[in-house]
Amino acid sequence: MSESGPLDNMLAQMEQAREYVDIDDGIFERLKSPERTLSVSLPVRMDDGSVEVFDAYRCQFDSARGPYKGGIRYHPTVSEEEVSALAGWMTWKTALVDLPFGGAKGGIVCEPKDLSDNEIEQLTRRYTEGIRRMIGPETDIPAPDMNTDERTMAWVMDTYSVYQGYAVPEVVTGKPPEIGGTEGRVEATGRGVSIVTEETFEYFDTDIESADVAIQGFGNVGSVTADLLTERGANVVAVSDVTGAIYDPDGLDIEDVQAYTESNGGRLEGYDAETISNDDLLTLDVDALIPAAIEDVITVDVAERLEADVVVEAANGPTTFDAAQVLEERDVPVVPDILANAGGVIVSYLEWVQNSQQYSWDVEEVNRDLRQRLTEAFDEMLGAYEARNIPTLRTAAYTIALERSADAHEYRGLFP
Ligand code: GLU
Repeated sequence: MSESGPLDNMLAQMEQAREYVDIDDGIFERLKSPERTLSVSLPVRMDDGSVEVFDAYRCQFDSARGPYKGGIRYHPTVSEEEVSALAGWMTWKTALVDLPFGGAKGGIVCEPKDLSDNEIEQLTRRYTEGIRRMIGPETDIPAPDMNTDERTMAWVMDTYSVYQGYAVPEVVTGKPPEIGGTEGRVEATGRGVSIVTEETFEYFDTDIESADVAIQGFGNVGSVTADLLTERGANVVAVSDVTGAIYDPDGLDIEDVQAYTESNGGRLEGYDAETISNDDLLTLDVDALIPAAIEDVITVDVAERLEADVVVEAANGPTTFDAAQVLEERDVPVVPDILANAGGVIVSYLEWVQNSQQYSWDVEEVNRDLRQRLTEAFDEMLGAYEARNIPTLRTAAYTIALERSADAHEYRGLFP
């Protein structure tokens, strides 16, 4: 049986949670489909003078609780289906951690490794022009996602602002602090994953100081998570990227690995350690497995052989729906993406608030607020899990998110 893609996965997760919440049929139907998706073709003048056309999307899933919010990713697998699923997950994520936002996601179908900095800038500016009528500080606020960063967000902010005729920093989050970005945003998703992992270990009575952790992915999220968990005393025994995985049963020297990748074009390849395959990493016997790369990496086949005591989903949608059923049967708890990686959007919210107030906080203030919101959401998820006798943490998280979103729709009603 072939395993379904991210959108079917997201819809099946919603259906599963529906059993435990009382949501009006009409509202549930509304929650299942994105409000709108814009598809744009982006002609870009390449460095060699030719013109290439790229496909791109912005999906606005739901805005009952506030402006649409979500990142922009650059990746060859981007599709309308994928951005819809990711926009749905943003909706449940912002609701679960109780931010006054809805959910959105955008993406450009491209392989950024094959593009020059100049071509990426032209592509970003053309994309911003393409979607600028639907985004705005009160309507839809983009942010970084896979293969986009502070630099990319600065171009989005500049392009949007040039058309408006004045600087509009609050149209996008994840900007460099020099133009209105907040301290702590770059590390926020990884910091959030490490906080949630700490809380998870505490809940399952695992001593973090003797815990072994494997992290799939060593981009922004994976490397910050590895660094902060090491700081807390955990042994990060394996990390990986597209070039393969490295393994040290005594714990890798994460600072050294980071220094190496920085000097090696962001790649782990060639690092002096035992190498294992990505599949070996996913099935290591560790206290926590943290997938921090792309969707659908924990398949049924992987789930049947997985030996970690718990999975903490740093990526969006890393576990297929069928694999999640296998993990449930095998009693392997999964801390869902909509909580585990919510640190990014929480600090995006703090950035947006600071922009609206034309005031900035120091990094301690930002990190304190982040920790408080995440631990509250974690406790709420556990509260629902235990009180409602719900089979998985994901379904517990969804009941809270769906209930909040449905309540917003209920109060607002249907108009026109
Ligand atoms: N791309 C991140 C996510 O998937 C952050 C989104 C945001 O900050 O708006 O949660």
